[in-house]
Amino acid sequence: MNYEYELSGKPGNIYSLGLLAGILLTSIITAAYTLLNMLPFVYVSIIGWVFYLWVLYHSQHWIVRLSKCRSKDHSLTYGMIMGVIALYLNWAFFSYSMFSRNGIECTLFGLLINPGTMLDVMQFVSNAGYEVGSLTFNDGPLVICWLIEAGGILAVCAYGGSKATHKKVFCEDCNNWTDKIDTYSRRQCPNSEELDKILWEDLSGLIVLPVATPDDPYHLKLNPSICYRCNNLHTLDLNLIYYEHDHKGELKEKSEDIGPVYKIDDQLAQQIIKLN
Ligand SMILES: [Zn+2]
Repeated sequence: MNYEYELSGKPGNIYSLGLLAGILLTSIITAAYTLLNMLPFVYVSIIGWVFYLWVLYHSQHWIVRLSKCRSKDHSLTYGMIMGVIALYLNWAFFSYSMFSRNGIECTLFGLLINPGTMLDVMQFVSNAGYEVGSLTFNDGPLVICWLIEAGGILAVCAYGGSKATHKKVFCEDCNNWTDKIDTYSRRQCPNSEELDKILWEDLSGLIVLPVATPDDPYHLKLNPSICYRCNNLHTLDLNLIYYEHDHKGELKEKSEDIGPVYKIDDQLAQQIIKLN
């Protein structure tokens, strides 16, 4: 009988340490993004936006891990809150850069506590037009650009938060995340009937499967993890590995999650580690 591992659902410090660290980190990332956007090149703005979203997404993972949040719902809520904060900081920094460039005295703090001023800036820029290199955006097209930008920020923060606890393992006894064991455990994939039996009844069936090489077109990868502090918590996650040609025609390894994260006993964990 297999046992599924589930996180405890505790929020950890996500609404204290997590929010503080998240606001600090997002402020730094957003300030860098605002500076990048002041360069007069459209392609720099687009690449900068994509890179900004990538950094925002990964910062959610880091903060959830740092604050030891063991709940998918709480990490999603945190991600959504940070999305709104990131959007607000974007507008504050943008307004500050607009005022500074036009020689208008203001403070960043003054803007942060006056959202009405930011709305005025939005209205003004929309009417006057916003220049990026040789292009000028105003009214509808500019609003569409802002909506795409805002949608991206909100989406990656929420998605980053919701994915942050996916298939992660936390040892409640030792109060820490567990570590993946660096092992080469690839086994040939059995037929669907045998695979179902392994996934839902008895994981020890994995041990007798023939070894697979990385270039086998279709095989299983075993990802055991352990709490090194107590050596009591062992888990196993399984991936189905297959290959696809990318747009350049090169063969790329792809990975698909199968089954839940399993809690396994020490004996099975040692057998899996020895499969190398
Ligand atoms: Zn432990």
